[in-house]
Amino acid sequence: MSDQLKYFLEESKMPKTWYNIAADLPKPMEPPLHPGTLKPIGPDDLAPLFPMALIGQEVSQDREIEIPEPVRNIYKQWRPSPLFRARNLEKFLDTPAKIYYKYEGVSPTGSHKPNTAVAQAFFNKEEGTKKITTETGAGQWGSSLAYACQIFGIELDVYMVKVSFEQKPYRKLIMQTYGASCFASPSDRTDSGKAILAKDPNNTGSLGIAISEAVEMAAKDPNTKYSLGSVLNHVLMHQTIVGNEALLQMEMAGDYPDILVGCTGGGSNFSGLVFPFLGEKFRENKNTRVIACEPKSCPSLTKGKYVYDFGDTGRLTPLVKMHTLGSQFIPPATHSGGLRYHGMAPMVSHLKEIGAIEAQSFGQKECFEAGVNFARSEGIVPAPEATHAVKGAIAAAMECKKNGESKTILFNLCGHGHFDMKAYGDYFENNLAEDKYDEAGVNKALEELPKIA
Ligand SMILES: *Cc1c(COP(=O)(O)O)cnc(C)c1O
Repeated sequence: MSDQLKYFLEESKMPKTWYNIAADLPKPMEPPLHPGTLKPIGPDDLAPLFPMALIGQEVSQDREIEIPEPVRNIYKQWRPSPLFRARNLEKFLDTPAKIYYKYEGVSPTGSHKPNTAVAQAFFNKEEGTKKITTETGAGQWGSSLAYACQIFGIELDVYMVKVSFEQKPYRKLIMQTYGASCFASPSDRTDSGKAILAKDPNNTGSLGIAISEAVEMAAKDPNTKYSLGSVLNHVLMHQTIVGNEALLQMEMAGDYPDILVGCTGGGSNFSGLVFPFLGEKFRENKNTRVIACEPKSCPSLTKGKYVYDFGDTGRLTPLVKMHTLGSQFIPPATHSGGLRYHGMAPMVSHLKEIGAIEAQSFGQKECFEAGVNFARSEGIVPAPEATHAVKGAIAAAMECKKNGESKTILFNLCGHGHFDMKAYGDYFENNLAEDKYDEAGVNKALEELPKIA
């Protein structure tokens, strides 16, 4: 048994709470708005889609929220996840920086996503939900929620972005293995899917479209709820088990991060690692640097506008204030399916806006190069999404080398890439398209932003 595991088991040190950063924000967030009335939404507006416990968490101001015991018992199957020091990578880079990483690939589905999937399935079960609908990009979220729903005996329909449905058969088969149904999106099962297909029968889908389909199906059926794998406050909060463990593990290592790094699609794995450290930064005036890493082809934080926008393409969700490329923007197909979302979590956007975090964007070739160097040094093949965090951490370590600084870096290695090896194949064969930032497409989508006075 590893020392870390012994510590957590014998001393019952496993964190028993999630951390809610809303309690420590120096400036409060702006509320989500009802798309019809443009007034702040209340719990009743969300009740058709989510169980009350999750709605309560979404707006809670409590700093600590208890993790129910049944959820903690399931977490025990893979938690605490290990925190490693990347000594071989440090040597390879010849950097004076110390690089640590928290590895979430040890979960049953190979990423951080089960941390919230299990919690969401649990709270749904408590309130009698029979069926859940959701969307998935590359399939990480769909397979994680399928795993969680199977534990609690809840039926699951997954709308999977068509380009991934066709290119990534293995994740679809994992969902099927857990007993979920998976449909290529846009589909002809929903009005929003049909509307898209009528305009463009060859539409390859996007997360924004798949969200519309899943929300629509949940809204139509009183026994069905909807679940989202990122972006929402309660989802980010469930992921803070990662950072709460990392705080204890860094203490065991006798170290504290100067720089925290994570990749951002909707913002959940990044938030999970960094929020507990940001809480300390706010409460104790620490000057921890926090860096969000995103793809150059879908750069919501670095190029998006901070405005109210819809979370989905079909304009069914509440309006949330976030960095967005426009809900009508369809990000170009890349191998990092989990990072292809037009917006960013409102909490992460807010933190960027108040200057508590920074953002950097990277191209997919430099990210795969970083991923390969990481695999050759540390033995773990990162998920394509996670290579953005690896690249960000390496960039920070090289900056330390240039400045002769021995800083401590901690990043979230949020998943392994075992089902994405085709992406590595394309990298080796030099088949990766150059990153395109579709500025014209973004500008067009931004013109279609909802008009808020
Ligand atoms: C889903 C996913 C992401 C992107 O989602 P976030 O909410 O930003 O974490 C990143 N990495 C992996 C491995 C994923 O499965």
